[in-house]
Amino acid sequence: MSNKEVLLQIKQLKTYFPVKRKSIREQRKVVKAVDDITVEIYRGETLGIVGESGSGKSTFGRTILKLIEPTDGEILYKGHPIQNLKGKALQQFRNQMQMVFQDPYASLNPRMKIRTILEEPMSLQLDLTKEQRKEKVKELLNKVGLSEDAMHKYPHEFSGGQRQRIGIARALAVNPEFIIADEPVSALDVSVQSQVLNLMKDLQDEFQLTYLFISHDLSVVKHISDRVAVLYLGRVVEIGTKKELYEQPLHPYTQALLSAIPVVNFDVPREATSLQGELPSPMDPPVGCVFHTRCPFVMEKCGKSRPTLEQMNPKQQVACFLYGKNTENSDL
Ligand code: SF4
Repeated sequence: MSNKEVLLQIKQLKTYFPVKRKSIREQRKVVKAVDDITVEIYRGETLGIVGESGSGKSTFGRTILKLIEPTDGEILYKGHPIQNLKGKALQQFRNQMQMVFQDPYASLNPRMKIRTILEEPMSLQLDLTKEQRKEKVKELLNKVGLSEDAMHKYPHEFSGGQRQRIGIARALAVNPEFIIADEPVSALDVSVQSQVLNLMKDLQDEFQLTYLFISHDLSVVKHISDRVAVLYLGRVVEIGTKKELYEQPLHPYTQALLSAIPVVNFDVPREATSLQGELPSPMDPPVGCVFHTRCPFVMEKCGKSRPTLEQMNPKQQVACFLYGKNTENSDL
C-alpha cells in the first residue's frame, strides 16, 4: 500500500472525555476513548476497524469526521490539517466525507419521504436545480438497487436491508470520496448482510470510494476490508493486510478474537485462545500493556511498561512484548 496515495493521515490522535465528579474532593477523571492512534488511510482502500464494544471504534470514526473534537493529535486530509477548518472550508471537507450509521431504522426521518431524505443533503451542499436533484435521486436509487418509485415512500415501508440501502444512497448524495461506515450491517439479518456488503464493494469500485469500516464482527470486516486495525481500549494493538492478520495474527488479543469465530472447515485445526474477563474501564486503563489483565501470555514487564506498535513485516504491525524490538526491553 505504500505506493498508494495517502488520503488521510492520523497522527497520535487522542479523544478523552472528562467524567463529572461526584464531589469537589474527587480526583478529576477522563475516559480515554481514543488513546494515541497513528494510522494512514490510502485512497481507494477499505480499512476495517475491529474491537469489542467500548474499544473506541465509533469515537475514532466520529473524531475523524470532526463530529467530536480531538483532545490531541493531528488529522491530515490530502496533506492538509483539518483541525482549524471553519465555515465554507469545513463544509467542503464534510462534503467529501460521509457516514453510514448502524441503525437504518433510527437514521432515517420517519416523517420524510425518501425523495426528501435524499434531496436534503444535496440542497444544503450542492448547487443543483430542483429537476437535477430529482434526477439524481432516481440515479442514486438505481445505484443502490431500489426502484425509482421508492422516492415516493416513507422509511417504514421498507425492510431493514432496503433502509440501509437508502442510508448508503444518502451518503452518496453529495459525491463524497470517503465514507465511514459504523457497524452498517450489524442490525441486519445475516442473509441480508452480504448483499449490503457486496453493494458497498460495487459502489466503491464505481465511485472510487475510500471506506473506514467499523465493526465488532471479524467475519464482516474480513468480507470487505483490504487492511484491518484491531483496537483495544482506544489503542491499535495490531494492524495489517487482511491476509496477514487473519492467517497469521500476532497479537494475543487478535488471536483470541479470531479463535472465537465459528470455523466452517473442521479439517483445519485451530487452537482456541479464550478471552478471559471483561474489557477494563477506559476511565481506568491498565498500566503497561492495556491487554495484560486478560492476556494468556502475560509477563512481569507487561504490567509495567507499554509496548509500541512495531513493523513486523511489510504488511503487519503489532504492539506486544512477544515480538520485534519490544522483546529487547527485557529488563523492565
Ligand atoms: Fe500479552 Fe504482554 Fe503482549 Fe500485552 S505485551 S499482549 S500482556 S504478552
